[in-house]
Amino acid sequence: MASGPQFNLDHEVVYGTVEHVSPLVDRVTCENPSRFTFKGTGTYIVGTDDVMVIDPGPPEDGHVDALVAALDGRTVTHFLITHTHGDHSPAAATLKEHFDAPTVGFGPHPLDRPDPNASSDDEEAGFGFDEDDDEEPEEQVESENEGYKSDHAHDWDFVPDMVVAHGDVIQGAGFSVEALHTPGHISNHLCFSLADKHAQYDRSLFSGDHVMGWSTTIIPPPDGSLNAYLDSLRLLVPRDEAVYYPTHGAPITAPQALVPALLGHREARTEQILACLGDGIDTIKEMVLRMYTHVDKKLYNAAGASVMSHLLALHEIERITCSDDQPKPRSIYGLAV
Ligand SMILES: [Zn+2]
Repeated sequence: MASGPQFNLDHEVVYGTVEHVSPLVDRVTCENPSRFTFKGTGTYIVGTDDVMVIDPGPPEDGHVDALVAALDGRTVTHFLITHTHGDHSPAAATLKEHFDAPTVGFGPHPLDRPDPNASSDDEEAGFGFDEDDDEEPEEQVESENEGYKSDHAHDWDFVPDMVVAHGDVIQGAGFSVEALHTPGHISNHLCFSLADKHAQYDRSLFSGDHVMGWSTTIIPPPDGSLNAYLDSLRLLVPRDEAVYYPTHGAPITAPQALVPALLGHREARTEQILACLGDGIDTIKEMVLRMYTHVDKKLYNAAGASVMSHLLALHEIERITCSDDQPKPRSIYGLAV
């Protein structure tokens, strides 16, 4: 595989304080680090006196208190929401008790809240790696199921006060923000492009979870779509923002190099999967064992999920066949003729 995207793991944060990341942009980071959120959720405050707040974060008291303090004496005009994952939008509801400003987003969560009484199909969910059969302590199973399967990973309650579509412009005081619809990670994902009226500062993009500098983006089924994600990356290629501010991780100062590298990384993975199928390797388990030879066994399930997102995308465009109606973790795959 060609050399992949250059990730930047160098990101020092001081939780709960205001960090000035540019003359127009401040950031307050929530102390919710994890393997999905890196050092935590970075909430951006854009503007000087009249400000927009981007991704208020999870509903954690300490973070909300830090934001209320950071916003003291300023006027909030809008709460901009990149998407409805639990580490991005829920604190908007609490902040609205302190600041009279509308929330702005593409729409509510695209999935229905799961029925807590519904039976789980987790037993079929594994890819069939040996450790699946091991007896695991309860806590470990719980932590394995964290992330996008867990209920608190989603904000089921969020409904934007202002619904925006691709290309809509939100006017601020001395600056404006253009909404870009960038589905893939989740179908209601927006990026926000900042332009100040006097073109005094570099054009910048608040990239949410669509483009991050520290990691690839997870495409969780069933709403995540690799094909949509790739299109949303291609949308950014001709654009001219000089810096990206992702919700997790450090600012991306060379987005014109990173975005094509992210695309190339996924395209190379797709080619590897097609090569596997060409060689008669027809299950996700066998593909992972062939493609991820240098990876710790503990990461096999994550690798399986990534391979699965590619197979879903290839199935959608009818490049491959599948033994089930829809790709499943233990389906048998083949090349379409
Ligand atoms: Zn997310």
